[in-house]
Amino acid sequence: MRPADQSKPQYVSRIERIEADARGGNVKVHVRWYYRPEESTGGRRQFHGSKELFLSDHYDVQSADTIEGKCTVHSFKSYTKLDAVGNDDFFCRFEYNSSTGAFNPDRVAVYCKCEMPYNPDDLMVQCEGCSDWFHPACIEMTAEEAKRLDHFFCESCSSEGQKKLQNSHAASRHSDTKVDTKRRRR
Ligand SMILES: [Zn+2]
Ligand SMILES: [Zn+2]
Repeated sequence: MRPADQSKPQYVSRIERIEADARGGNVKVHVRWYYRPEESTGGRRQFHGSKELFLSDHYDVQSADTIEGKCTVHSFKSYTKLDAVGNDDFFCRFEYNSSTGAFNPDRVAVYCKCEMPYNPDDLMVQCEGCSDWFHPACIEMTAEEAKRLDHFFCESCSSEGQKKLQNSHAASRHSDTKVDTKRRRR
């Protein structure tokens, strides 16, 4: 929807109801606003995605003339599965209370050594041991290096993985070639 200040990005809302006068004129829309992270009390945080929106408890009535187009606000899960993110694709994983600044849910899963919620804009690599996800920078790797990885074990899993490997070698003469391959490539 057209913002009051034209230099600002467009407003995003969910239209709950459309009404018009008896002649079908003067069309009004009842909206529930989505907030951008920078419009929230806490501001934009590092884990907020560029296309992230919060579904607020802020309801409004606007003239239908302010509608400029239609966009899609995906669930977080379906957003992360998009093959390509278009201009009109957004996602929402939090509801936002505009008077208290509180979020619902107030906790989300955190990943990596830095214990941050997932920002879908960031490249992450998954450990094959513990299934946790890591930012290349947090494991002293460049994004390019991370993209070239065939296999990845985090610090704590690679020492455990090695112990397991030694035990299995001791227990059996048949070495596990799959694990060996992983080990060499690491
Ligand atoms: Zn990290
Ligand atoms: Zn791990």
